[in-house]
Amino acid sequence: MQSLKDYHYKNEFTSAFPGDESGDLSPRQTPGALYSKAIPTPVSKPELLAWTETLAEELEISYPEDEDIKILAGNKVTARMHPYAACYAGHQFGNWAGQLGDGRAITLGEWEHNGKPYELQLKGAGPTAYSRSADGRAVLRSSVREYLISEAMHHLGVPTTRALSLVTTGDKILRDMFYDGNAAYEQGAVVMRVSESFLRFGNFEILAARKEIENLQKLVHWTIERYYPHITGTQKIIPWFKEVIERTAQLIVEWHRVGFVHGVMNTDNMSILGQTIDYGPFSFLDDYDPGFTPNTTDLPGRRYAFGNQPSVGLWNLRRLATALNPLFEDSAELEEALNTYEDIFWNKYYKMMGNKLGLDEVKKEDKMLISDLEEILAKIKPDMTIFYQLLMDTPEDLSEVEQLMQHFGECFYTEPQAEMKTTLLALLKTYSVRRKTNKISVSETKELMRKTNPRFILRNYLLHQAIEELEQGKNELFEKLRTALKDPYSNKFDEFLKKRPDWATKKAGCSMLSCSS
Ligand code: AMP
Ligand code: MG
Repeated sequence: MQSLKDYHYKNEFTSAFPGDESGDLSPRQTPGALYSKAIPTPVSKPELLAWTETLAEELEISYPEDEDIKILAGNKVTARMHPYAACYAGHQFGNWAGQLGDGRAITLGEWEHNGKPYELQLKGAGPTAYSRSADGRAVLRSSVREYLISEAMHHLGVPTTRALSLVTTGDKILRDMFYDGNAAYEQGAVVMRVSESFLRFGNFEILAARKEIENLQKLVHWTIERYYPHITGTQKIIPWFKEVIERTAQLIVEWHRVGFVHGVMNTDNMSILGQTIDYGPFSFLDDYDPGFTPNTTDLPGRRYAFGNQPSVGLWNLRRLATALNPLFEDSAELEEALNTYEDIFWNKYYKMMGNKLGLDEVKKEDKMLISDLEEILAKIKPDMTIFYQLLMDTPEDLSEVEQLMQHFGECFYTEPQAEMKTTLLALLKTYSVRRKTNKISVSETKELMRKTNPRFILRNYLLHQAIEELEQGKNELFEKLRTALKDPYSNKFDEFLKKRPDWATKKAGCSMLSCSS
């Protein structure tokens, strides 16, 4: 175990690339630089609200004492750290947005464990050269969301950045939460995020846009050597790009397994490691609605709705390919790689759906069963999580509508129309028959379904309630959720296995959210 304050941090990113070392925090363009030095701006009264023991133990970081808590709040930087904000660009909602960069994220240094580097990064620690007109801060509400969801996704088995700590700052921050001209002061907070790398598609896009081909080439090779060391040979870029395609497809399949909607799949929010990154107006699906977007800014186009995530993944990969194009004589190989995305995605997707349904393999007829099921679910819109829990124990002799309603009744938000009940019943009968042909045992089938279908998900209304409590100084629900999210496939936390309550359906922050954070 080593303490945050005494650790000999590595600073390999800042050693490897040209950066702006001025430390100037005024907003500006930084041509030629891949990062800008940024010392965090101290806060009034740092207090540790949460520390992630599991992650700290994994990385062998000792429990934070006074001086360490100052580091977690941005009030202290050690001599071994080289704090910086990364420079990146991005496509936002389909449009080129130019330079963006870490406007409120500051990487303090790299913590090495078992030969692997981990960036320790503060979010909300004050302005950087990339803050544009904003303040570089984060409110408690969005920080609690990022802290809890990072760990929830980790325990669900979905690739994600992690969160080591959550600190309140004692400072107030002005936010116009509903973008309606009614700004109000909210509590500030800082999260320490951890990932092997926070590099995004946008870090590559900016170099191509600025025509800094040497920097681009160097960043690509650095990324491959450091994070994809198994890729060897003389031509590494295409095999690497193919792996980024594969990881991105896998990530989105995992989102669909658990019913997660990211909400802001801009290319600056797409990790080069295939992790879920930058949690903003995300949501799990309560009712199964492929058209659901949790992001109020995403209306009316619903570009980032649940059902659009697979195609947005490809659109974003295409932007990455365009950024890599200057490293090739022609675009044929990149095109060819992009053309593999759909097959890769759908193969993974059907395999995952087969697991959700407890099928030993997915044959052609099974694919039809899966898409028919999805079609009827999209019409009936049952609670996705509860539906799959009930599906595990589908009665073998299911034959009557009454039986269907008795078994599945609790997952419906509104009673399905008669013809929909009949369609669902027919489908589930076919499903029951199909399950009997499994070459795995009944208990193996259930175990497969149990491991694939989460029983606890961090619903937005639960987060909303936990945040309201925390804002009043109470942490009971917050702590309960922290415990439950560590064991999302067990039945230990069935007090949370409930549909979204009626009151939460229309309430801001419980279903849809703005980007204000
Ligand atoms: P996001 O949509 O949250 O991923 O953010 C898009 C861009 O806006 C990124 O460059 C962020 O760093 C920046 N940004 C968001 N909120 C703030 C803030 N409060 N202060 C400074 N920059 C911000
Ligand atoms: Mg972002």
